[in-house]
Amino acid sequence: AAAADENDVVVIGGGPGGYVAAIKAAQMGLKTTCIEKRGTLGGTCLNVGCIPSKALLHSSHMYHEAKHAFPSHGVKFSQLEIDLPAMMAQKDKAVSGLTRGIEGLFKKNKVNYVKGFGKFVSPSEVSVDTDEGGNTVVKAKNIIIATGSDVKSLPGITIDEKKIVSSTGALSLSEVPKKLVVIGAGYIGLEMGSVWGRLGSEVTVVEFAPDIVPSMDGEVRKQFQRMLEKQKMKFMLKTKVVGIDASGDVVKLTVEPAAGGEQSTLEADVVLVSAGRIPYTAGLGLDTIGVQTDKAGRIPVDKHFMTNVSGVYAIGDVIPGPMLAHKAEEDGVACVEFIAGKVGHVDYDMVPGVVYTHPEVASVGKTEEQVKAMGVAYRVGKFPFMANSRAKAIDDAEGLVKILAEKETDKILGVHIMAPNAGELIHEAVLALQYGASSEDIARTCHAHPTMSEAVKEAAMATYDKPIHM
Ligand code: FAD
Repeated sequence: AAAADENDVVVIGGGPGGYVAAIKAAQMGLKTTCIEKRGTLGGTCLNVGCIPSKALLHSSHMYHEAKHAFPSHGVKFSQLEIDLPAMMAQKDKAVSGLTRGIEGLFKKNKVNYVKGFGKFVSPSEVSVDTDEGGNTVVKAKNIIIATGSDVKSLPGITIDEKKIVSSTGALSLSEVPKKLVVIGAGYIGLEMGSVWGRLGSEVTVVEFAPDIVPSMDGEVRKQFQRMLEKQKMKFMLKTKVVGIDASGDVVKLTVEPAAGGEQSTLEADVVLVSAGRIPYTAGLGLDTIGVQTDKAGRIPVDKHFMTNVSGVYAIGDVIPGPMLAHKAEEDGVACVEFIAGKVGHVDYDMVPGVVYTHPEVASVGKTEEQVKAMGVAYRVGKFPFMANSRAKAIDDAEGLVKILAEKETDKILGVHIMAPNAGELIHEAVLALQYGASSEDIARTCHAHPTMSEAVKEAAMATYDKPIHM
């Protein structure tokens, strides 16, 4: 047990990794302190990531639906307009409600919350410059680094969060830009591009790679890109930005083919730089205690989430693996379970990924390209939402379910869904994968009618036999 002033666990960072680890540790009876510099809990995800982006995606979707879908459903009104300050206020309300909710959970679970910037002075001591202006040292036998990640900027581009913005600036623009150029076709760029595109911006996405969202199944990606193009998002793939001039009223970008060649210019009112995120360990004092980082700045850890320094652990975006909030949370729980002398486990092959555009794209397990590379014989079952009664009833039937299963055993290897609510639909597939299910297991499970989930059942049937409704 800890001495009076000493903790069992200190967590540096109050994001989804850190705050979940802190609550779990306290629930397991460990004396726990969480240090956060931001002034609010919830990290990137709640403050400037998952939550505000989903708030704006929903609000902008409502506007877009009202404009484009309501009339065909017989819902008419005489005037439709965007009140951007009100939209932002609703987003801010969601964020502040949730961040305060975590403070409440800290109190309920007796997690000690220190507001300030933490830095290692030894492997068991963290010095905190508190937000109030003082300094305090917190001690623990076990310290978890959960300092997350930060926006990655590009060489020669200065983010001013006004005309050249990161995702953070793109979440609080004061007006709808006429032209928005998004650099980087990852999920964050496509989500934020969707928000402003729905509100009226002309959106051009510039991407160095030949494909958008490289981790996506190729066939699904193709359909997804077509959907975004139908929504008037423009893509310049295999293209690099070589110069940017923000001195005038409009920003001028010079671009050229990734392989080199003739240059051209693009104009934008706002440029969103969404070229990835980098681990954040600035000022943390890793050198002082000898914690190693890799070339990408991530902190390598062992199976118990321990760094190369005994008693110092790391979780979430700051370690290798997908930079996702739910992955950070899983890390946090497993890490604390190890610290408490129990067994923790995270299966990184079963972490779902979701792009929250409309339709959404969700996936778990292997893509068809990955299955091919593995060299196993496999079957594919597909079912389009065009043949799903619920999707037809609500006139939102773009998308498909695609299931990959091992040929010999029918064991599910990967599931990919493009649908309005794919991010919710994916979880029966995650559970199936987790339990090592076959596609027949899903196909023989009764699914309620009429639901979008029936498309998952039918795709499962199509994997080893024929679907009914196709
Ligand atoms: P973070 O959330 O980054 O938290 C780290 C915290 O540590 C920060 O609050 C920071 O202030 C604090 N900190 C850092 N250094 C110190 C220090 N020395 N002392 C004290 N405090 C410190 N993921 C999803 O799963 N779904 C989504 O829909 C999604 N949408 C996103 C949208 C956007 C626009 C962005 C930018 C990200 C999104 N993400 C999403 C990613 C998600 O936000 C991250 O994966 C997640 O926040 C990582 O959690 P974390 O706890 O590791 O780090």
